[in-house]
Amino acid sequence: MAEIAIVGGGPSGAMCGEQLARAGHAVKIFDEHLAWEKPCGGGLTHKAILRFPFLLDNPYPKKLVRSVELIASDEQRVTMKMAHPVVIYSRTVLNGMLLERAQEAGCSVQRSHVIGVDTASDKPRYCVEGEWHQADYLVLAAGARNQLLPDTRPLKRDELEMTQGYFVPETADAITIKFLPHFEGYIWSFPRQDHLSVGICGSMSAHTSAELKSHLGTFVDKQKISTAGAKFYSHVLPSPQEHTFSQRTVVGRNWAMIGDAAAWVDPLTGEGLFYALRSGELLGRSVAEGCPEKYPARVRAAFSAELEFAARIVRRFYRGSFLGTSVPTRMVQFMRKSPVFRQLVGDLFSGAQDYTTLKQRVLGHLGISLSQFVSSVLSFEPSAIARVPRGSNASD
Ligand SMILES: Cc1cc2nc3c(=O)[nH]c(=O)nc-3n(C[C@H](O)[C@H](O)[C@H](O)COP(=O)(O)OP(=O)(O)OC[C@H]3O[C@@H](n4cnc5c(N)ncnc54)[C@H](O)[C@@H]3O)c2cc1C
Repeated sequence: MAEIAIVGGGPSGAMCGEQLARAGHAVKIFDEHLAWEKPCGGGLTHKAILRFPFLLDNPYPKKLVRSVELIASDEQRVTMKMAHPVVIYSRTVLNGMLLERAQEAGCSVQRSHVIGVDTASDKPRYCVEGEWHQADYLVLAAGARNQLLPDTRPLKRDELEMTQGYFVPETADAITIKFLPHFEGYIWSFPRQDHLSVGICGSMSAHTSAELKSHLGTFVDKQKISTAGAKFYSHVLPSPQEHTFSQRTVVGRNWAMIGDAAAWVDPLTGEGLFYALRSGELLGRSVAEGCPEKYPARVRAAFSAELEFAARIVRRFYRGSFLGTSVPTRMVQFMRKSPVFRQLVGDLFSGAQDYTTLKQRVLGHLGISLSQFVSSVLSFEPSAIARVPRGSNASD
């Protein structure tokens, strides 16, 4: 029985701990907050529900949302219905449920801030409550602001997004997504059971926090969402570039990173919960089998090719144009005209369709201009999208 120390009891750490404790290991999870309202939309897609059905089959409060309204930067709107709902949790509830499962599996869960780690010796050490302790393996699941970086580098500005938002004491039935002119990111409103999480995310290297605040203020005013009594939040979100996956070390001989700490986030959508849970599961399984070295290959087989694909197209999506109009605006226009395309975007959004198998579904099933549009955004063939150099903007 090995002793495993996990720093961070969010979705990735709790899931990893559960796997390891079930396999008979002695697992200690440390989290400075335990279950808390981490700034987040809280939306879980269909692929997360398929892989972890307990996320749907449980008595905890959650909201199932089947409808999304997309608003283009020129205010054109379209509503799509999703065949599979997005399941939205308050993060206090979600983290609490996952930590409870880890505890039931046998993990010890402690509310403490880990102030340092040392992986230089065979057995890694960590410092908590002023004392150094030793373990057999160290899991770093401390999120995107993580400062505990043995033998690796922090994420750079161009690998991060800023987020700001409000927990608003009102609710709604549909998700709203708003695109902005010349902006690498979007605004969202995610309805939870008894409140909304309304926020904005934007590339840290391309935008300022003042810009984000102003866009969000305009949105809540236009949508008539009252922020009186709402709690403001801000946080960072990994937005990995293609090279992040190949160049940043996330595993060493006696430690590994999972979830946001490893930057396992879709840079196009900001979805991180599924990848946090799945990476926690995969590392847990690999360490439990005595083969932590299998973790990177398992991540690659499970999802990192998908994230690399998203990293390749993200700038083209937010900054490119198709026939003189920005890609998000064109997408909304096409969705208004074509129910088939609307369904396809709905499936992508809800996580029922991945990027890498999109080509087969698109070709032959959409009209010529739509096929051309999708192919060029996804780069199936020589691009019809005007490629925009960094710093300049597509016309809207
Ligand atoms: C505003 C916003 C909206 C988002 N919306 C969505 C969404 O709708 N759907 C989605 O799929 N993803 C969303 N994401 C991404 C998602 O929140 C993350 O991908 C996910 O929380 C990652 O889980 P994690 O366990 O890796 O890290 P975290 O959830 O960040 O957990 C890390 C934990 O480590 C603890 N910790 C940190 N440092 C220490 C330390 N030194 N000692 C002890 N404990 C420590 C923290 O208290 C925290 O509980 C959003 C992110 C943001 C910022």
